[in-house]
Amino acid sequence: MLRNDQLDQWDRDHFFHPSTHLAQFSRGEAPNRIVSGGEGSFITDRDGRRLLDGFAGLYCVNVGYGRTQIAEAIAKQAHELAYYHSYAGHGTEASITLSKMVADRAPEGMNHIYYGLSGSDANETNIKLVWYYNNVLERPEKKKIISRKRGYHGSGLMSGSLTGLGLFHRQFDLPFPQVLHTESPYYYRRPDEAMSEADFTAHCVAELEAMIEREGAGTIAAFIGEPVLGTGGIVPPPEGYWPAIQEVLARHDILLIADEVVTGFGRLGTMFGSDHFGIRPDIITIAKGLTSAYAPLSGSIVSDKVWKILEQGTDALGVFGHGWTYSAHPIGAAAGVANLTLLDELGLVENAGTVGAYLTRKMKAAIGDHPNVGEVRGEGMLCAVEIVEDRAQRRPFDPSRKAGPSIVARMLEHGVIARAMPEGDIIGYAPPLCLTEAEADQIVAATKTAVEEVC
Ligand code: PLP
Repeated sequence: MLRNDQLDQWDRDHFFHPSTHLAQFSRGEAPNRIVSGGEGSFITDRDGRRLLDGFAGLYCVNVGYGRTQIAEAIAKQAHELAYYHSYAGHGTEASITLSKMVADRAPEGMNHIYYGLSGSDANETNIKLVWYYNNVLERPEKKKIISRKRGYHGSGLMSGSLTGLGLFHRQFDLPFPQVLHTESPYYYRRPDEAMSEADFTAHCVAELEAMIEREGAGTIAAFIGEPVLGTGGIVPPPEGYWPAIQEVLARHDILLIADEVVTGFGRLGTMFGSDHFGIRPDIITIAKGLTSAYAPLSGSIVSDKVWKILEQGTDALGVFGHGWTYSAHPIGAAAGVANLTLLDELGLVENAGTVGAYLTRKMKAAIGDHPNVGEVRGEGMLCAVEIVEDRAQRRPFDPSRKAGPSIVARMLEHGVIARAMPEGDIIGYAPPLCLTEAEADQIVAATKTAVEEVC
């Protein structure tokens, strides 16, 4: 085994890490963590530390670490057939079985799955699908996409444009001009203190209507949104939000893409976030929970309504001209089949609902009244604590104070991983769906101690 100091040197000299302060990392001013193992909700690092992973990697290791059932399925597939492509009707037993399993679990009328490798590339595919859809329907002007401020849809060129966070735009000349960002469903940051949740929903809907009016419904192809805003701050929608938004979209013949990269496969205590909120999407983006990150795999679940037009399109235009070498990669597909089987066997969707609610309830009880806690919010196995300088005014700390990152760093000292969300002092939690109540208590205790230490 390589020595830690050797690995550390190679890491700093050669490994170009994503979402990292490159200069500080090369100079050794920012820490690294070499992760070596995992079991259930815990990871271990090369320094021998055992950490409770309150963010399931990047909200993806839904069934937890160390599941031999998935590892064995991957190994078996690799031995039998590590790769064959899925172009022109080729497939494997794993990719076909997985498609059936996903269709069986998806909301009604959603039966066709296109595979990619990441949430970002799945959203690139989705935009191509809706553009293609309108080309087939001879509506070449209907191409703009409405996304939301604080939405997160990936960091490719189009998916990064869909993302509504400045960090992902400023440095890269994004967003593309076809993408528009409407109001974020972020009740805590509502424009007027006096607004009720229902008022705020009405405000979001009015903003959307005004945007459609301004641009012309004939120019807008689709609306994309996460059932619960994730990377933008873990924000459940205000009361009545999704039905009201859907009504507007349906009236203007605008397709709805539900980005369920985080919420898909159980995180909200239902198989999909769409089931949880009664959303009837035309396309669903899936990734993370599809394989619990045991292998990279993503997908676009396409409704029968859209599928029919895609079929019509190929009759008119010939072969559907979009494909990835690794689409439906057999190893990813085998991991997906084993993962979804395990999800059912262990009852993890239900566990996400009950233990997730427990986590948020306990978090509120422990720190909900702290003068620097603006809000504790949650939905299923997602929870967030928003830290503010002035609770009454909802006034944030100056970013230079780094309140959120400091709390997360302190929590690590207490053995628990949480995530400082990229904008605002928001501590995010998205533990594995197998979390126990005792582990939830540990997350709450570490948070309470860290908030008291930092604020
Ligand atoms: N969509 C959502 C809702 C996400 O949360 C993410 C990643 O966190 C993505 C898309 C992008 O997925 P990936 O990082 O696999 O490209």
